[in-house]
Amino acid sequence: MDESRINELRKALLKHELDALLITSPANIRYISGFTAGADARLLLTLEDQYIFTDSRYREQVVLECPSWNYQEEKPQGLEQLGKKAPGLHKIGFEALHVSYAFYQKMSRIKPVIWEPVAGLIEALRSIKTPAELDRLRAAARIGDEVFAAILPMIRAGAEEKSLADTIVHLLRQKGCEKEAFDAIVVAGENAALPHGRPGKRVLFPGDMVTLDFGGIFEGYAGDMTRTVAINPPPQGYKDIYQKVSEAQQVGLDSIKAGVSCREVDQQVRHCLQKHGLDQFFTHGTGHGVGLEIHERPTLSSNSEDTLMENMVVTVEPGVYIPGWGGIRIEDTVIVTKNGVEIITQSSKELLIL
Ligand code: ZN
Ligand code: ZN
Repeated sequence: MDESRINELRKALLKHELDALLITSPANIRYISGFTAGADARLLLTLEDQYIFTDSRYREQVVLECPSWNYQEEKPQGLEQLGKKAPGLHKIGFEALHVSYAFYQKMSRIKPVIWEPVAGLIEALRSIKTPAELDRLRAAARIGDEVFAAILPMIRAGAEEKSLADTIVHLLRQKGCEKEAFDAIVVAGENAALPHGRPGKRVLFPGDMVTLDFGGIFEGYAGDMTRTVAINPPPQGYKDIYQKVSEAQQVGLDSIKAGVSCREVDQQVRHCLQKHGLDQFFTHGTGHGVGLEIHERPTLSSNSEDTLMENMVVTVEPGVYIPGWGGIRIEDTVIVTKNGVEIITQSSKELLIL
């Protein structure tokens, strides 16, 4: 595991005047230690030491995945061993967004520690990807492209939303993903008017628009792409609105480079749709970071405080959702570069009438 991540985190501890950090988010545990069963473990990083608390089922896995972490046998949700490390640690940070109230009550019984809620320390480090992480994200995107190419011939009148979604999940795994990054979305016609509609028993008809949004996890890293296609004959107004969403997506891609604020990217996309009278139908943010989690920092939205930096990985996914008509969304995942973007989703965005 990358020791520089631990060093960076220790610097952050010093800056926040913390003696240690208790890490409970599974994705953060994986990022900092390499341990992949974070739901059953906790890490304690002090300025000198690093401990992993988990139960005996994982003893061997700790040796394999994170040998530099000091294994401490602890019952699931237990804090006994951690309590023994606490003397000498005055102020310990904990991940405010990743601790249950019940666990917090147990923590509070460990005396005389002062528990300091922190948020986003590790998430900030995670937002900028290393070359090895970028390669995994590129691989996840490539598998997404392959799955899209494979599913296209199956999108036809008579096919069922749910069975297409199931096939996508099967293909993602077959092509090397551990699992899906989120429930695959295949929604048609009026269902497509829900940005995150759930695939159901509905079958496709001529004249449907069909939105597919999916991604797999490759070596821990998520893929995320969306395409919308139509079944011949396309619905009324489809070509025209597709063209406008596509234009807005391109505006988003063109506005991204290191140093630009995330809010600015969102504004430009929104402005483009506004020009076409469609902004009231664009009801979510322009995009989000992707990495160990499907949604992570930074956020490309109107109230984002983040600034794009080189080697961040984000999605650009404007969509319009018109009640009673349907919806169109186009989403690529991109790597932020010094002067622009590397678009890692490579499937065509041309209008597709099947
Ligand atoms: Zn998506
Ligand atoms: Zn997305």
